[in-house]
Amino acid sequence: MLQISYMDWKELESAVAVCENCGLCETRTNTVFGTGDQKADWLFVGEAPGYNEDKQGEPFVGRAGNKLNQWLEKVGLSRESVYIANTLKCRPPNNRDPLPDEALNCRPYLRRQIELLQPKIIIPVGRIAAQLLLRTDTPIGQLRKQCHFYEKTDIPVVVTYHPAYILRNPAKESEVISDLLFAHKILGLTEQVEQETQEPTADLLEW
Ligand code: URA
Repeated sequence: MLQISYMDWKELESAVAVCENCGLCETRTNTVFGTGDQKADWLFVGEAPGYNEDKQGEPFVGRAGNKLNQWLEKVGLSRESVYIANTLKCRPPNNRDPLPDEALNCRPYLRRQIELLQPKIIIPVGRIAAQLLLRTDTPIGQLRKQCHFYEKTDIPVVVTYHPAYILRNPAKESEVISDLLFAHKILGLTEQVEQETQEPTADLLEW
């Protein structure tokens, strides 16, 4: 089989659909590849499919998904204009946390999705997605409100809470909106730097 790092979107999705790299293939109903605009600037990364996602083959379609959709709308985004994926492509039984070997085996799929997408910003939602993406065990409270970078790239990573956590702790919802506004600000700054480094400055034009 073609190496994951050479696959295009279609090849990657087909590889995920038949993946048997860990035991989760025995209990899944569907793999959950990802959804949204494959040219999106924003990539949202969750932990793993839950019950509804496993049944429908799409990330964030249950109550947590509705909450995520609301957040997107509040900050001027939509499900169609962003890309949404998970660190694991298969549901862990009873929604338990991913095991280290499951996360490790699944990592190349998300990595390739990121390479193909080339997002301008990545938002891991929840502790597990944040820690796996940033390869750290720092608590989520310390990861929020900072600009991290994805692996060896200059893609900014802004961490926020998981929608399921907010459904249990609604008082914290405003913190998520601040995180997303912070991400907007970083994206604006990145775009400004890109423009400034690509376009000659007024001084140079005059000269
Ligand atoms: N929780 C996640 O982290 N991802 C989903 O797709 C659904 C719920």
